[in-house]
Amino acid sequence: MSICTTCPYCGVGCGIKTDGVQLQGDKQHPANAGRLCVKGSSVLETLGDQDRLLQPEVNGQVVPWDYALDEVADRFRRIVDEHGPDAVAFYVSGQLLTEDYYVANKLMKGFIGSANIDTNSRLCMSSAVVAHKRAFGEDVVPGCYEDLELADLVILTGSNTAWAHPIVYQRIAAAKQARPDMKVVVIDPRRTATCDLADLHLAIRPGQDVPLFNGLLTWLDDHGALDQDYIDAHTDGFDATLNTARQQGNDWDALAEQMGVSKVDLTTFYHWFAACERTVTVFSQGVNQARNGSDQGNAIINAHLATGRVGKPGASPFSITGQPNAMGGREVGGLANQLAVHLDIDNPEHHAAVADFWQTESLAKENGLTAVDLFNAVESGQVKAVWIMATNPVDSLPEADRVRHALMACDTVVVSDCVASGDTLACADIRLPALGWGEKSGMVTNSERCVSRQRPFVKAPGNAKGDWWIVTEVARRMGYASAFPYQHEHEIFAEYSALTALAGRFGRRLDMTAAADLSADQYEQWQPQQWPLQGDPRCFGDGCFATPNGRGRFVACENPRVRQIGDAFPIILNSGRIRDQWHTMTRTGRAGRLFAHLSEPFAALHPKDIERYRLKEGGFVRLASKVGDALVRVTSDAGQRPGTAFMPMHWTDQFSRRARVDALVPARLDPHSGQPAFKHTPVNVSDW
Ligand code: SF4
Repeated sequence: MSICTTCPYCGVGCGIKTDGVQLQGDKQHPANAGRLCVKGSSVLETLGDQDRLLQPEVNGQVVPWDYALDEVADRFRRIVDEHGPDAVAFYVSGQLLTEDYYVANKLMKGFIGSANIDTNSRLCMSSAVVAHKRAFGEDVVPGCYEDLELADLVILTGSNTAWAHPIVYQRIAAAKQARPDMKVVVIDPRRTATCDLADLHLAIRPGQDVPLFNGLLTWLDDHGALDQDYIDAHTDGFDATLNTARQQGNDWDALAEQMGVSKVDLTTFYHWFAACERTVTVFSQGVNQARNGSDQGNAIINAHLATGRVGKPGASPFSITGQPNAMGGREVGGLANQLAVHLDIDNPEHHAAVADFWQTESLAKENGLTAVDLFNAVESGQVKAVWIMATNPVDSLPEADRVRHALMACDTVVVSDCVASGDTLACADIRLPALGWGEKSGMVTNSERCVSRQRPFVKAPGNAKGDWWIVTEVARRMGYASAFPYQHEHEIFAEYSALTALAGRFGRRLDMTAAADLSADQYEQWQPQQWPLQGDPRCFGDGCFATPNGRGRFVACENPRVRQIGDAFPIILNSGRIRDQWHTMTRTGRAGRLFAHLSEPFAALHPKDIERYRLKEGGFVRLASKVGDALVRVTSDAGQRPGTAFMPMHWTDQFSRRARVDALVPARLDPHSGQPAFKHTPVNVSDW
């Protein structure tokens, strides 16, 4: 019998129908209507018991679950009692299901009493979260995938959509084929596969997004293309923002020169934006993973607010998220600087309401440590026990070698994962076998706020358990049994849905209250639905925002300081996904055919740089930054801007020694979001 479930990979959140032997795209799922990319269509090949973590282990010994759970609870309890709640931390993942995330957040913030729970979504979307909260008052993506098909102009910025979000790309491509007048602009320093669809590719220099969108605001003003009625009726802060944007002037020759594009291309983009009422700007990691990622997001949103194009059919800014449940994690409070249901830790009314709902006196009162700072605190000994769930920070955090050393020296490292080996698992004192995709059950929220089920269809291997069950059992052993009574994941989802009533009380759009009384049967039958579960699927289209006065906010964005590229590190290294792999390859690395596209780690450089640095195409190159190095094959790519390089993010020590790109990336963070600047690492290159 076939079941309907959701793809475990990217934030597009495609529906899959499978009987465990064969698989197809779910034609009824609103995200993909039957389409699947190569990763999604090969996911059955990644199942099986090989290299699975099957039994709990403590200090390398297989132990019964009761022993392992007692050990985790005892160690965390002892450290909290001796050093206070901020001496422990959880680091979780956009791979967790909403129910897992909810109980982990409830345990750490609500009962242990620290907000030291952060997620790998910090590396992915946290700058977009800041941009949304500053502009709209809430972390909400206003639009829907359908808007990409309704738009007359789709702008893809900081996103190799064709490889990283393939079904979104296919939907745009199909819409453009049906309506050839629809225009697509790609803004990216690299010429990527996404550019195949572009009417215009703006290959701006790295880090030029704010000047580009500040220039757009000025252009719109100069050409009478602002929606002044909308600005007056629905927004605050426009004049100051325009003044800031105008500081760079309106000399389009000079701006084009600064950005490294032609004036014709620059002004064509501005003209198209001004002319197309139905414009969607898609932004992703190329925007978020920067020292000024939050400002880059707001500079984009400013242009949409200035033209009244937010949350309307075919017209919206649209942050597309990286992971299958990064959105769901944010909804239940998985970031260290927020409470559940989009409420704020430092707002006394929000705090009191959540504490009352959870019936706790221990709710964390201050923001916790965000991802990079959390592992810095592990390194310094301030955090003495960390529980890592479904993620691989030894490979995915900046200064990855430091993270490894910090974990090796930490008093207690607990890792829950579905695989038996990995660079982070190698640092664990306690290893807990978790269910994987196809075995576990729960909800995920995709980039357009659509909540879908992941359903189990294969037997759990060995003694693996759901993450929500593991956290619940530890919570009970720490003395919080009455607050963690769950027997089934649907009870957790119903509790979370009831909690969203508080979001509504404080003017938030997150509304799942219609699911608050969901029965187990209704949970099983759940069909994909966008939140808010009741009302318009788009948000803010009426010009009413989630800010205290209901008005959208412009955010003045200063142009970033131009960083001089020194002789020591003359190349700017960018990192990202390739088409057929996912994150640190714990799953896609099991499907042999996914290596047919690109089989090994590499550094792509412009042919002129290969010549300039006397490298041999196809030979090995050493890339070195201030914090680390990597050794990979060099490939020639005329789509690279001269002076830049690209490395995939996927390879770990498990797959290829010395090819971890994040060993090279220094921990430079956006000051508002704490998101690392993965896209802009100065390196040098030398023949090996
Ligand atoms: Fe899965 Fe993303 Fe591919 Fe859809 S686009 S099948 S969600 S990897």
